Amino acid sequence: MRPDVLNPLFIDTDALDGVGPKLKKPLAKLGLTRVRDLAYHLPERFVTRRVIESLEDAAEGENVIIALTPTEHRPARNNRGPYRVFAQDSAGNICNLTYFGRASFTAKKQLPVGEKRWVAGKLDRYGDMLQIVHPDHVEKESSANIGRMCEPVYGLSEGLTQPRIAGLVQQALERLPELPGWIEPTQFDKEGWPAWRDALQLSHKSENSNARDRLAYDELLANSLALMLVRADNRSRKGQPLQGDGGLRGKLQLSYSLTGAQARSVREIEGDLAQEAPMLRLLQGDVGAGKTVVALYAMLIANEAGKQAALLAPTEILARQHFDTLRQMATPTGVEVAILTGRDKGKARESILMGLLDGSIDIVVGTHAIFQDTVNYKDLGLVVIDEQHRFGVAQRLQLASKGKRTPHTLAMTATPIPRTLTLAQYGEMDVSRLDEMPPGRQPIDTRVIAQDRMEDVIAGVARHVASGQQAYWVCPMVNESEVADLAAAEARYAVLKERFGDDVVLVHGQLKPELKDAAMERFASGQAKLLVATTVIEVGVDVPAATLMVIEQAERFGLAQLHQLRGRVGRGSEKSVCLLLRGSGLSETGRRRLALMRETQDGFRIAEEDLELRGGGELLGTRQSGDTPFRVANLEQITRLLPAAHADARLLMERDRGLASGRGQAARTLLYLFERDWGVQLLRGG
Ligand code: ADP
Ligand code: MG
Repeated sequence: MRPDVLNPLFIDTDALDGVGPKLKKPLAKLGLTRVRDLAYHLPERFVTRRVIESLEDAAEGENVIIALTPTEHRPARNNRGPYRVFAQDSAGNICNLTYFGRASFTAKKQLPVGEKRWVAGKLDRYGDMLQIVHPDHVEKESSANIGRMCEPVYGLSEGLTQPRIAGLVQQALERLPELPGWIEPTQFDKEGWPAWRDALQLSHKSENSNARDRLAYDELLANSLALMLVRADNRSRKGQPLQGDGGLRGKLQLSYSLTGAQARSVREIEGDLAQEAPMLRLLQGDVGAGKTVVALYAMLIANEAGKQAALLAPTEILARQHFDTLRQMATPTGVEVAILTGRDKGKARESILMGLLDGSIDIVVGTHAIFQDTVNYKDLGLVVIDEQHRFGVAQRLQLASKGKRTPHTLAMTATPIPRTLTLAQYGEMDVSRLDEMPPGRQPIDTRVIAQDRMEDVIAGVARHVASGQQAYWVCPMVNESEVADLAAAEARYAVLKERFGDDVVLVHGQLKPELKDAAMERFASGQAKLLVATTVIEVGVDVPAATLMVIEQAERFGLAQLHQLRGRVGRGSEKSVCLLLRGSGLSETGRRRLALMRETQDGFRIAEEDLELRGGGELLGTRQSGDTPFRVANLEQITRLLPAAHADARLLMERDRGLASGRGQAARTLLYLFERDWGVQLLRGG
């Protein structure tokens, strides 16, 4: 049970003044559903403004506060462009206040013609006109909000404004309880950190790296502790030792022999499976390193020992692909391989459920449908989790621990994360690394090209397709709900469709599963030549005949992501090409990151160097980098603070495994605060 002291933090946001159904939606889009989330919605940066008298006093790009009088409202032409309000300063200089989308309603209300208003915002130039796009504040009096010279800037979603969210954050901060100290006292004193509540309040007020560090440390500590609890729990559980006689593995008829790294990994897995304590192992190997066959060996060992094995894939598409590959490879062994996803219904589903229950199915591949309550196994001995880095291992383990005896777990990931992050993400799992590629891989010719050479790129794709080969075209999509990105992807598809007709298909996250699969199948079967996609193809899709990849706005992707995307090509014997299109105005770091992609194909090196490139300098901003399980700690903080947090957690576990002491209790509170309470639940169970 969550400690009572945290209750005020876990109240729904609609308990706050001014939050109704209308605000809840944009808040939820940012993941802000409870008071706690608002308190931890840390500013992306702070803006400092200067009060100016005349528009001529400001430098372009400067944040200013100025008195302006609207002279004219000019609505968008044919509902497309922005809504503009012309306004003049006291000397008669004109500028433009520009609003996109629904923000125009605000403009109409806030800026009556002929009435002076104080406006705060960033002054830019558009053509030969000065403009402020979406002013941060518009006030009648200079005293109100506008008086604030240093102000936090928060991540927003459509329907929210800076003052709105700042007001809500403020309300959340007023509700913060005082919490007990969970940080090791000597560590805490040495760093001179503020108490928890102060740290949150300070972090919203100004750039205070000490306070932000403390909050990051909390998160890292919670994570380390939870992973250690999982590990300890796992050690104390009873599994079943599985010994294979090699009978099934011996029947395989692979057209190749295992690489040294694959053979070593299989041996490591075999050793783990033979133990009574359930295996908890991560198989880490770059895209194309050959993880599937290692998984098959592991599953066949389980089958040889008379147990069933399950492979969990993150998406429907991947589940089907794994199913096809595994069934084909396993044919000579005679084991029964089945697939079960959320989409299997009726009779087909019934018969699979029956097969799992009576043991006639040896290997089942599927999405998380395979762990639903209605699915029962005769004797599940091994769970393989593919590409699960997005979910967090521990939660998956919860799923996996169905039944009296805990099955062995093998997690597979293609994300080559730096060693420091491996620790953060997977705690103390055992790791097998496939650090050797199967022979005969051709290097991928990677080039960086300016996005405005689009015509050339399309012509290149046309030549490629005309020569009978296939291609991927990837559009960025930071967030599946991002309207602008989706629109851009669809617009690109429309353009390409004009040129390539039925040869091009589109796949993105908002598409109905049936349509998505149909499109994927047309591409995989070679009927369609060009696949336009958002990053849904990131994980696992295997079409060896696709030898060209175009990635738009490549600078917006994480390098690990680019690396994974690029790994979709270069799978066959043909030479493959990857074109990274870059936007204009690339930062120095951005330039170097893309250069690194051109230079190497070693995923581990890319991961390490990307961490270094991004690590420095970007203290604020780029918070939710997507490739870490953290929301508060950024990459630089992870690298710097994780070792201490980890040691702190270790010490606590050694002294007080049951988290029963005063500090232990405080640590429980911490786990709940960061919703790593699955750690606590394990404590109770064990
Ligand atoms: P990933 O690690 O990305 O899941 P896969 O298991 O899909 O990689 O393997 C990629 C390709 O490499 C497959 O076509 C597979 O048949 C092939 N492969 C795997 N192991 C070897 C090997 N030892 N020698 C040659 N080819 C291999
Ligand atoms: Mg794979």
